[in-house]
Amino acid sequence: MNTVNYLRISLIDRCNFRCSYCMPEGEEFTYLQAQETLTDDELLGLVQGVFLPLGINRFRLTGGEPLLRKGLVDLVDRLVHLPGVEDVSLTTNAYRLEDMAEDLYRVGLRRINISLDSLDAEVFRKITGRNHWQRVWAGILAAHRVGFDPLKLNVVVLPGVNDHEVVDLAALSLERAWHVRFIEFMPIGNTEYFEQAGWVSSQTLRERLQECFGLTEGSCFGNGPADVFQLPGAKGTVGFISQMSECFCDRCNRVRLSANGVLRPCLLNESGEVDLKMSLRAGMGHAYLRDQVAHLLLLKQDIHFKERNRGTTTGAYARTMSQIGG
Ligand code: SAM
Ligand code: SF4
Repeated sequence: MNTVNYLRISLIDRCNFRCSYCMPEGEEFTYLQAQETLTDDELLGLVQGVFLPLGINRFRLTGGEPLLRKGLVDLVDRLVHLPGVEDVSLTTNAYRLEDMAEDLYRVGLRRINISLDSLDAEVFRKITGRNHWQRVWAGILAAHRVGFDPLKLNVVVLPGVNDHEVVDLAALSLERAWHVRFIEFMPIGNTEYFEQAGWVSSQTLRERLQECFGLTEGSCFGNGPADVFQLPGAKGTVGFISQMSECFCDRCNRVRLSANGVLRPCLLNESGEVDLKMSLRAGMGHAYLRDQVAHLLLLKQDIHFKERNRGTTTGAYARTMSQIGG
């Protein structure tokens, strides 16, 4: 079983996009009130007093849309410079990235994942509910310009919507050292849509890229669950995240903290969740919280054992990635 050393932190449950697979337009969402969200001091206190002492020293900031969090640049600055923090990265839809890339880089952020489901502005609008392709592309170029490395582009593949673009999206890895990662659509959030649309397996996509380019095994810095390949002559890589067709519990090294301070052992399983904010605000010290988290880490091994034995994940999960911290 892998050692857990990686925490995904949701900084906010709100988003300015309405991706059809995550927070679809027209659906009502109940958002956290400001006072329900962990403050910067609470969050950094947990990192310092609870997670780092337990060996969790790699952090990804996500959401919702993390660039909407007030004071993000200061928070990143403080997090990056905490003694013992090995790695900080961020996942964003890039809507605000053109304005923020330079500041984030200046305070020490180096790794960024950007969601880009299409190269076609109209398809992009259909998927995200927003007419913002140009702005997102400008954000990606800004991140490249200031030097983010690795720069990963996340693509959720939706049958009949953007799967015809897989070759063009993979080709983004040719000229620049960008890492394009195709993610199998999961029944999280908009499960009704999932049931209608279905999903495309990584295997199908790999075969398409194989026909078109040939693929060689590559390697890429990262601590994620992607199978990574390189197109011949490419500067970057192409990765596949196959959580539907493969069970990669064995490789899982992460836990997830929601914006309201609930720690979750597994994306697909909420049993054993721990409400760290509640304990913190009830006056419990970091030593008590460390015990709670250590218990959850033990429980995670048990959950993975069960998930592995259950085989391919086909169940539907009511909460969205934006709530869990995708
Ligand atoms: N808003 C940011 C973004 O879109 O990059 C960060 C949060 S978003 C929830 C994190 C990742 O989760 C994105 O790459 C998104 O595509 C992915 N995601 C959300 N819902 C998903 C689903 N049902 N299946 C697969 N991936 C999903
Ligand atoms: Fe927002 Fe990201 Fe979810 Fe899209 S995937 S709705 S950008 S949180």
